[in-house]
Amino acid sequence: MTLRLFNTLTGQLDALEPADGTALRMYACGPTVYDFGHIGNFRTFLQVDVLRRFLKLSGTAVRHVMNITDVDDKIIRNAGAAGLPIGEYTKQYVDAFFEDLEALRVERPETIARATEHIPQMVALIERIAAAGAAYKVEDGSWYFRLAAFPEYGKLSKKDLSGMEDGARVDVDEYEKDSARDFALWKAAKPGETSWDTVIGRGRPGWHIECSAMAMEYLGESFELHCGGEDLMFPHHENEIAQSETATHKPFARHWMHVRFLLVDGRKMSKSEGNFYTLRDLLLKGFKASAIRLALISVPYRRPLNFTFDSLADATNAIDRLRTFRARLIAADIAAGENPQLQEAAKNARAGFFAALNNDLNTADALAPVFELVRAANAAMDGGQLFAADRDAILPVLGDFDAVFDLLEDRDAEPTRRALEWAKASGRIGEVAPELIAAQSLSDADVEALVAERTAAKKARNFARADAIRAELAEKGVILEDSKDGVRWKRK
Ligand code: AMP
Ligand code: ZN
Repeated sequence: MTLRLFNTLTGQLDALEPADGTALRMYACGPTVYDFGHIGNFRTFLQVDVLRRFLKLSGTAVRHVMNITDVDDKIIRNAGAAGLPIGEYTKQYVDAFFEDLEALRVERPETIARATEHIPQMVALIERIAAAGAAYKVEDGSWYFRLAAFPEYGKLSKKDLSGMEDGARVDVDEYEKDSARDFALWKAAKPGETSWDTVIGRGRPGWHIECSAMAMEYLGESFELHCGGEDLMFPHHENEIAQSETATHKPFARHWMHVRFLLVDGRKMSKSEGNFYTLRDLLLKGFKASAIRLALISVPYRRPLNFTFDSLADATNAIDRLRTFRARLIAADIAAGENPQLQEAAKNARAGFFAALNNDLNTADALAPVFELVRAANAAMDGGQLFAADRDAILPVLGDFDAVFDLLEDRDAEPTRRALEWAKASGRIGEVAPELIAAQSLSDADVEALVAERTAAKKARNFARADAIRAELAEKGVILEDSKDGVRWKRK
């Protein structure tokens, strides 16, 4: 079975396979690094991560390119206000972006391409477009793309552009008007602005040309897949297609994937609405990175997702259930043999998981059979009906699940610790959940030492000391669970 993914361009589910049978070439629009990303941005990156991980699990190699837009109007404005060169200004947000991706367990694309490092490729592409008669230069030295030169304009977003005015221009990168305009390929330098001296004049690239040039640089003139959030469909991706196909006379990306928005009370989470949370905001409220990952990927990419704190609490519980189950399964003292029902359950869970993801990456439907298996196996273990061959059948299902979802290893302490450090350094410690500060005052080694001391105290029948240690740990947000397999602990 192969993955069938909705293709915005064709309006249907299309099989997604490498054209040359080797690696699938994919381009994903990356961040504009003028500020910290919010979790709406990360929803898109996480869904692309689910896609690339699932492709790899299914045996398809990927060549994934993501750009970083490190020059644009907002960056130039903010860097100017901060009195910094743009490279210095963007560095803090580039670093933060990669830190956040790591915290959320988003795999690094094979290639990260920065706009400022690909100016020659952009200039060359503009020259090609001009040679094809579709670019023109205006009085101030800026270059525009002539929409009238590309009759297929609108084929991705399916907008009716019949009323298009020839020669009407727009020089901002983002615009929402239905009536399309000739858009800027190259913006002439304004006094004091960052610019590059090139054969087409002194200036800087428009946003759209960046992605066309960098995608072609690393993936060729035609490639399999282009991804981004739904807001990029028009005008950004429409413009990418127009520029690229005018220059090459070849289809640009064959398949277009658009991730629907993360919403807050029905409105797009965005900087301009002021209704956003960054990853650090949530970590400092005491939510774990893994719970944020699950909350953002458990709703399939083609459905808008309304953000709520309840969904983070649900995700926390779900992860807890999975991790506890796996620890129990591994630690359990079980006899040789097999339970045919569990063998069947494991097979069905695996099949259900793959079928759901093959069906347009339906993450919600993929989770259901895994939790069903956990329920069945827990019940079997309670009744002494889970045997060694069952464990051997169930662990690989969890392995496949985790190759995509990546939640089972507890790596949550580090992102939280880093967020706290950042809060201290930036004077925001007052916003931090108090139990988080208390919990962080104990390192993992401290906790282990106290747990060992408590076990020894209990053995020596010094229950007063054992209880005092439990109380101290609880106060610092560490919960102990006594089981017949020993003591487990976790942070609240
Ligand atoms: P930006 O840094 O604004 O260029 O956005 C980076 C990525 O995040 C793009 O693919 C956007 O489409 C996507 N994006 C922005 N806001 C949201 C949102 N509320 N939900 C999902 N994706 C978003
Ligand atoms: Zn782009």
